[in-house]
Amino acid sequence: QRRDPDQPEFLQAVKEVTASLWPFLERHPRYARDGLMERLVEPERVVQFRVAWVDDRGQVQVNRAFRVQHSSAIGPFKGGMRFHPSVNLSILKFLAFEQTFKNALTTLPMGGGKGGSDFDPKGKSDGEVMRFCQALMLELYRHLGPDTDVPAGDIGVGAREVGYMAGMMKKLSNQAGCVFTGKGIAYGGSLMRPEATGYGTVYFVEQMLHYNHRQTHGARVLVSGSGNVAQYAAIKATDLGGRVLTFSDSGGTLYCRDGFDMEAIEAIAAHKNERRGRLAELADDPRYDYLPGKRPWHIPAEIALPCATQNELDGEDARSLVKNGVVCVAEGANMPSTLEAVDVFLEAGTLYAPGKASNAGGVATSGLEMSQNSARLSWTHAEVDERLHVIMKDIHANCVRHGKRKDGTVNYVDGANISGFVKVADAMLAQGVY
Ligand code: NDP
Repeated sequence: QRRDPDQPEFLQAVKEVTASLWPFLERHPRYARDGLMERLVEPERVVQFRVAWVDDRGQVQVNRAFRVQHSSAIGPFKGGMRFHPSVNLSILKFLAFEQTFKNALTTLPMGGGKGGSDFDPKGKSDGEVMRFCQALMLELYRHLGPDTDVPAGDIGVGAREVGYMAGMMKKLSNQAGCVFTGKGIAYGGSLMRPEATGYGTVYFVEQMLHYNHRQTHGARVLVSGSGNVAQYAAIKATDLGGRVLTFSDSGGTLYCRDGFDMEAIEAIAAHKNERRGRLAELADDPRYDYLPGKRPWHIPAEIALPCATQNELDGEDARSLVKNGVVCVAEGANMPSTLEAVDVFLEAGTLYAPGKASNAGGVATSGLEMSQNSARLSWTHAEVDERLHVIMKDIHANCVRHGKRKDGTVNYVDGANISGFVKVADAMLAQGVY
């Protein structure tokens, strides 16, 4: 708190994790030595740099970019790049901190990192996005490598941006090693990577409901966001018999009382991905209600999947969900629920999965992309899906192992935090203090 008073998101993430870990450290004092916690809350390295590029009018634009290399205790730094005007050091440090535990949870050997820029891709031409990505790589390339740091996409960074950055990386380093994941299939990408986070979130929900003897079929599902994670979470939830009632974006919520069918979900995905459209533009469709400036959380449903961004679900939203009978909340986004919202879910006995467990399918599949690249192999869709399914089951089992309460119920927050921590902490203790 004293060191980073101006980093509220980072402090929030640290507070959430340490609240889980404290009782565990008291029971296991071997983890309370060697300055382990003090080292864990300090990133190994933070790089901040200028990105200067030329827009379509010939004007020079200057953005700020970062890479937070949080922990390489169990493998190369790994975590996405985010392009959004809100990007700052606090947000990236929180994301890199969370990523370290999430990556440990996947059971794959990946450290944690995160990066990004305050560049806003909205309204930019393809040429501008390409020039920005290339300018960013002119600095970032020297900090990356297949065994050093392997970034990927995040908000505002999809296949197009990854392609431009990975291409420039190859040009500058004269090497074709795996330095980005989320690549296109034509140049080393993995099948299923676009689907992985959304599908994985729903696979995790399946595990939670099954373990706690609840049903998915026919459940009403609230999805927030309408980007990559939201789209594939909605597809998988529908596939498994759920009824998805909402999507949202920063303008408001699109509500379909009867539930979007697969055709409608695909049309919304095309509207967002191909035309970079707004949900407000679909307001005239008689099947939908458009709720400007509103989030989905006041609509009654059994399952809620926040898949947009951090702190998009606050205490009041959580109380409303609980009052309306929500059974399960699983985070597709990173830290979408505020600390107060998490407390509301835990007190109400709602099955609540923090993002580091439920959205880990994305980075897990990135790990599988790294394995395929190293082995010069391409697995089929079904092979990757099967591995993703197994990984989500393993993450669930680890959460149960470390989060089971005396009464047999599971605190998934504790389960995820302790399980990820133990792996990172064991690796740090074994490697000495540095
Ligand atoms: P996208 O850029 O594809 O989509 C983001 C969605 O969130 C858009 O619908 C966007 O709306 C909405 N959004 C962004 N910022 C805000 C805001 N301030 N208020 C309201 N809505 C907002 O990103 P992804 O789907 O890839 O990522 C979504 C979340 O999932 C993020 O938290 C990300 O860190 C997390 N995540 C993503 C993974 C992945 O594999 N993609 C992996 C693990 C976690 P609009 O169009 O209006 O901006």
